Amino acid sequence: DATLELRGIAKTYNPGTPGAVTVLDGVDLTVSAGEIVALVAPSGAGKSTLLHIAGLLDTADSGQVLLGGQEMTGRGDAARTRARRREVGFVYQFHHLLPEFSAAENIVLPQLANAVSAKDARARAVTLLDSVGLSARAGHRPAQLSGGEQQRVAFCRALANAPRLLLADEPTGNLDPATSDTVFAALMRLVRETGMAALVATHNMDLAARMDRIVRLEAGGVVAV
Ligand code: ADP
Ligand code: ADP
Repeated sequence: DATLELRGIAKTYNPGTPGAVTVLDGVDLTVSAGEIVALVAPSGAGKSTLLHIAGLLDTADSGQVLLGGQEMTGRGDAARTRARRREVGFVYQFHHLLPEFSAAENIVLPQLANAVSAKDARARAVTLLDSVGLSARAGHRPAQLSGGEQQRVAFCRALANAPRLLLADEPTGNLDPATSDTVFAALMRLVRETGMAALVATHNMDLAARMDRIVRLEAGGVVAV
């Protein structure tokens, strides 16, 4: 039951120029519903590029992206944006929460963009915050939260619209080891509870080892570990 399927993904930046860089050269990767896969690679190997292509933020030069079995490759920008908003949640190394808004509001806003009612959006924000142990922080602005709390709110925001696929790029990369553990535990629990598929880029081999599977990006392709 493949949630994300990448087939033969290739990407070259600045093609046809002296600065051409082939980053991805035939990447095949499947992530199933309920599965959490670690993506490990040296810096510069193309992890971010791969996550952006998988999340429909960027396009490949060739190959196919399937989300929930649906071919996304040939779709126009509007259809891809719609699919991304519905089906994909993103988490980055830095939380990118909106500083003027409370934790709950940061989780409400993406739902309003998806035409959810304010009342339902608020209820979902409360449920999500509760699931990561942050009920008491709903009204706090990001600057009033610790790094680990901010990152847990960022997970909640990514999950606001109940995506099928979570893409995370070094989600614990700027946290100390103890906080990183707490945040990772919350992530694992959310993935298990929702049955989502998750692809998590990380340099942290301890965390990678706790996921279902590790894939390594090298020489433009993906190899199982
Ligand atoms: P990673 O996330 O693994 O560090 P990236 O996907 O960010 O790798 O980048 C892979 C390679 O592609 C790097 O050499 C980077 O400099 C290059 N690159 C990334 N984005 C662009 C871009 N927009 N234009 C040109 N080169 C880029
Ligand atoms: P909206 O326009 O409603 O803010 P988008 O459809 O632009 O949302 O984005 C959906 C998701 O993709 C969000 O989680 C957002 O953080 C992420 N996103 C959008 N654009 C970029 C980008 N250029 N780089 C990285 N992530 C992005």
